[in-house]
Amino acid sequence: MTAVPVVIGMRAPSAAVLADAAPASQGLVDTHGRVHRDLRISLTDRCSLRCTYCMPEQGNEWLARTSILSTDEIVEVAQVAASLGIRTFRLTGGEPLLRADIIDVVRRVSRIEGDEGPVEVAMTTNGITLAKKLPDLIEAGLTRLNISIDTVDRQRFADLTRRDRIDDVFEGIAAAAASDLRPLKLNTVAMRGVNDDELPDLVAFAMEVGAQLRFIEQMPLDAGHTWDRASMVTREEILEKLSARWSLEPVPGRGGAPAEKWRIDGGPHEVGVIASVTAPFCGACDRLRLTADGQLRNCLFSNAEYDLIDSLRGPAASDPAQRAAAIGAMLRSCVHGKLPGHAINDPSFLQPARGMNAIGG
Ligand code: SAM
Ligand code: SF4
Repeated sequence: MTAVPVVIGMRAPSAAVLADAAPASQGLVDTHGRVHRDLRISLTDRCSLRCTYCMPEQGNEWLARTSILSTDEIVEVAQVAASLGIRTFRLTGGEPLLRADIIDVVRRVSRIEGDEGPVEVAMTTNGITLAKKLPDLIEAGLTRLNISIDTVDRQRFADLTRRDRIDDVFEGIAAAAASDLRPLKLNTVAMRGVNDDELPDLVAFAMEVGAQLRFIEQMPLDAGHTWDRASMVTREEILEKLSARWSLEPVPGRGGAPAEKWRIDGGPHEVGVIASVTAPFCGACDRLRLTADGQLRNCLFSNAEYDLIDSLRGPAASDPAQRAAAIGAMLRSCVHGKLPGHAINDPSFLQPARGMNAIGG
């Protein structure tokens, strides 16, 4: 049988195996030799904020609740993924902390043994409710945390996220700073006319709380399809603005990490830039994504999805061995179908139909 990459919005008829995908014994290696070690799991498309570059203010089409994967289903997919070489699971969304069973998800995923021992469980969050939940998250096995903050200015935050909740985010960051989770990372999307005048201030804020700031180039993933290449703030521009305050020295040894890093004034602080648009790092990409409604994606920008719902809930799903085999086959098919690069810079590029909140950043 042949696996069918699904055009977004459609469902694959069955969990079929791609005949020429790499054998299971080789793990998740794509046709360009990239070994996949990182699975981003989106737990929900819902969110407590409405960042302009991610979600519309109103009229968002939510995923049907019945299609959202249960904790058991997530854990089962993660177990099969770990058996095929995935070592890091990053929980994301939407806002992962909105998920009522978040502590249980962290606990159960962090107990999975990978091919090199226990897996790592990380999370990307907007920080709202983090202060309250952090002790339980750490006790459950969370090992790494990225918190998103695009401005330290109250009014700007309210305008940009359409919610007046900056104090909740500050509280979350303070709790994370007081914990042992390190490195603690803060994510900032750089935006012209929104926060491009406070990029050094954001780095200074991160240094004060003992975190590392990573700027992200804005990508064409907004639900409103308003992204504009001409106005996006580039890696070069970010570095230029930071260099006006500090001397920056490149940190070698990036590996497969999305962020390039620079040492600030000789160290110990560092700043990162994720330049997905102007300096893509697809050649070293080791990431796969699982959407909250059970679709595997091999790239943020892909227009194909690999449907796990049939593997998990279809006629053959009553048998655990068959279920695991079907999930493994779909994971390998998804990896096999991965293109060498994301083609954002190609004139024929088509923005994915899903917004970032429904893909999982
Ligand atoms: N709600 C959580 C948060 O904001 O951290 C997790 C999900 S969010 C989609 C993950 C990351 O994607 C955030 O750091 C966010 O800033 C980033 N992001 C969302 N839309 C983006 C876009 N169009 N371009 C670049 N980064 C984006
Ligand atoms: Fe929510 Fe994160 Fe998207 Fe902002 S970036 S709307 S916090 S999912």
